[in-house]
Amino acid sequence: MALARLEEAGLLTGVATQNVDRLHSRAGQRTVWELHGAYDRVVCLSCGRMTSRADLDERLTALNPDCPRETDPARVSITPEADRAAAEACDFTPVMCEECGGLLKPDIVFFGEGLPPAMDEAMRAAGHCDVVLVAGSSLAVLTGLWIVRQALASGAELVVINRGPTAADQLASVRVEGGTSEFLAPLTDRLIG
Ligand SMILES: [Zn+2]
Repeated sequence: MALARLEEAGLLTGVATQNVDRLHSRAGQRTVWELHGAYDRVVCLSCGRMTSRADLDERLTALNPDCPRETDPARVSITPEADRAAAEACDFTPVMCEECGGLLKPDIVFFGEGLPPAMDEAMRAAGHCDVVLVAGSSLAVLTGLWIVRQALASGAELVVINRGPTAADQLASVRVEGGTSEFLAPLTDRLIG
């Protein structure tokens, strides 16, 4: 929410995130580069058509009314036996793309997959920024580190706020050991009042 306020005040170009939970958008952030996709979208592997996870759930439920639906996480166990029992309990009918009949998958970047266009957009923005802020990331996953390196190569200053070490600590002009919520909220208050 603090980042969204900084954007609103014209102090932040956008947020590049490895999270797939849409929380930046829900906080009001307008420019969000989702480097690893988003959990609430489903993409067709053939035609690229994007639909919502909620729509997929509706279609799956309509086609599989007799399939057990357990929504209490405490009662779901993930074991080979549980998988077999679930498979035997229903004849599951998968759904395909309504446009072309292609296979569907969550719009999340899996290991080994290519990165989405958001990565290029974030790299372009990093090439034109004055400051790059790392907020709550160890940068252990390379996509984030690439963006930081791009910004530094273009002459930007690096500010790191994180609990624990990050892969870019040695390159930072300012390094804050702490949580993003406890630090960014008061910082935003001071910057924009
Ligand atoms: Zn399709």
